[in-house]
Amino acid sequence: MRDTLSRRGFLQGAAALSAVAAASGASYAAWAASPDEQGKGSEVSRGFTLCNGCSSKCGLVCTVKGGRLWTVEGHKDHPYAKGTACGRAHGVAQMAYSASRITTPLRKTEDGSFVPCTWDEAFAEIGERVKKIQAESGPESIAMIQDPRPSGKYYSKRFINALGSANLYTHGCACNLSKESGLTEVIGTGKYSTDFGKAKMVMFVGRSYGDGIRPSSVQSVAAAADANCRVVLVDPRLNNTGIFATDWVPIVPGGDLAFLLGMCNVLIEEDLYNHEFIENETVGFDEFAAQCKEYTPEWAEGICGVSADRIRELARAMAKAAPAASIEPSWRAVNGCSYANSFETARAFCAVNALLGSFGQKGGALLTSTPSFGDLDPEKFPKVPKPKVKRVGDAEYPLVLDSMGSAAVAAASGKVKAFFFYNSNGARGYGSPKMWTKALEDAELVVTIDIQMSETAMQSDFVLPECSYIERMEVPEALGGKKHAVAMRLPVIDRIHPETKSCDEIFAGLAEACGVGKYFGFSVEELSEAQLNTVGTSVAEMREKGVVALPDPNFEYKVPKFKTKSGKLELSNEKVGATGMNPVISYIPRKVMPGEGEFFVIGGKQSIHSHTMTLPVESLNAISREYDMERIWMATADAEKLGIETGDLVEVYNDNHSDKVAVKVTERIMPGVLFVPSHYGGKSKDLSLAYGYGIDMSDYLDGDFEPHVGSIMSQEVAVKVRKVQA
Ligand code: SF4
Repeated sequence: MRDTLSRRGFLQGAAALSAVAAASGASYAAWAASPDEQGKGSEVSRGFTLCNGCSSKCGLVCTVKGGRLWTVEGHKDHPYAKGTACGRAHGVAQMAYSASRITTPLRKTEDGSFVPCTWDEAFAEIGERVKKIQAESGPESIAMIQDPRPSGKYYSKRFINALGSANLYTHGCACNLSKESGLTEVIGTGKYSTDFGKAKMVMFVGRSYGDGIRPSSVQSVAAAADANCRVVLVDPRLNNTGIFATDWVPIVPGGDLAFLLGMCNVLIEEDLYNHEFIENETVGFDEFAAQCKEYTPEWAEGICGVSADRIRELARAMAKAAPAASIEPSWRAVNGCSYANSFETARAFCAVNALLGSFGQKGGALLTSTPSFGDLDPEKFPKVPKPKVKRVGDAEYPLVLDSMGSAAVAAASGKVKAFFFYNSNGARGYGSPKMWTKALEDAELVVTIDIQMSETAMQSDFVLPECSYIERMEVPEALGGKKHAVAMRLPVIDRIHPETKSCDEIFAGLAEACGVGKYFGFSVEELSEAQLNTVGTSVAEMREKGVVALPDPNFEYKVPKFKTKSGKLELSNEKVGATGMNPVISYIPRKVMPGEGEFFVIGGKQSIHSHTMTLPVESLNAISREYDMERIWMATADAEKLGIETGDLVEVYNDNHSDKVAVKVTERIMPGVLFVPSHYGGKSKDLSLAYGYGIDMSDYLDGDFEPHVGSIMSQEVAVKVRKVQA
């Protein structure tokens, strides 16, 4: 927190991480040394791209010397980068030169090993097998699973729909599905943002900008702190946003919903809510208020561990600061995919903000617009017909978001015979790996498009090598907010490995082989031009600037128009009620409670890792090892009881899994809870730096899903710990 942690220290630490990212790792040393030689006397050129280190896709300005990537900086005009790139960006850019890249298509043999094949051979055999599966099991037995990047989300949807299947899934079930679904049923959109520049009080529930580390987010919370905004962290762990915070409120994992409803009780019972907003802009308040009577702060304390007095004080302070006060919307944490009540927790975020009247207000919770692109000329390029059969899983999980689906539900259903993975390590990260292994073993065809041999690639029949992101052009990315802009991933260097392809080339080849090539008769440049022209810019301008500002959308502070069925903010919702759930925002307990001697488990990102793909990056892996970042966190009080000290090796176990890892003993986590940093515990022997390093909490999951929504409930888990070695 501001009093106990040094801001200067944080910034120095962040700078050190970037420096280490740029200085450690054998491959980087070779890379750094080589252009010195090769690039002597060479002209330095500049190129623009979008970082692939996480879903922020920050704009980057790259310099190239002697044909090799030389420097990476954040683009000053990109709203997420604002001139800065985080440490991951430097590491992920190096993947282009990694020795672990896949450089040619691979085909699995009878004995389970992979052999190289040509693109023609891979396309032809995949095409034959897809046609056979289509004929025998119907197109609805084919699925596409992706971590959506700009081109991917255009091409992969077009491809799977062209095959007649609606089975397009993102990584959302293991990320922000419940949050976006919950928000959508209350405010009509899955997103809102915090107006940090003018906020007087902001509450983070589970989320940490200091670990997720999008540059603009860190800058915004730092600026808010400088402006004396009260920043409250509600989290079982004092995370790295603590440097900017005034308060840390430790909370029992999964108790967040009770905490939020306890605050609602105070705001209503003490008549601290915004009557004008509630009366004019919401539906369902009377039912909600009646129900909130039982959610007293004392009731909430018994579930979430935050004292009733503290809940009252926070609610009153939020009301005093309103409307320049709000709950930050979060992302993957408590309301993203973690618990049996994540969807309802997301709805409760909106309920608090509604009572504060902060939607659309200065310093409150903002709904802003995003520009939309046009499409290809349908006269020249035929439109893909809408699939006739609904997506697998949607009927059983009716609150799943249209734009995401649940890939894990689809895998567990046994209905999918052919899986395509694009830029996705679903079999490792989207819920129980055991469940995924079974689904992929039972499938008739598994194809993975990636640049390295992920765990999913290892379980595939074909692995198709994509070129790295700094070698390819992708369709433009629309950027919304108070201002609008467009940014684009453009090739910065020539292709290093001639047998790799870009995603548009791969999908065009697959489509041709599967008999739907007529839908892919355009180049990525033609498509990008068509999209950009509709917002008044062009590929040529993108090449010149990398990021282009679009006409001012004239954002105004005012109550937004909620795109719900009623046109109002819905504290009670018919669609939710139709599932059998309470239509009114209400309490749902978490599913798994630790028994005697067991711990809660929480996970979270670190500033240098965003996905399983970053752990094998040499420089980022070196930072992890230098600072022992794979260690799990245990509270001092728990460690003393178990005779455990920092650095000791422990066994973490439950009925599903057992693994060994070192411990960090700290006061920064509440007793009874373990923090397991995400993305460790790699299982692909081909990615030797990640293999067996740390533990992966998804191994401990039961493999079931949040009711009605389909998220993986990534923190519904309890484990025991025993010391193995000092
Ligand atoms: S936050 Fe970092 S890793 Fe993510 S896109 Fe931006 S620079 Fe890349």
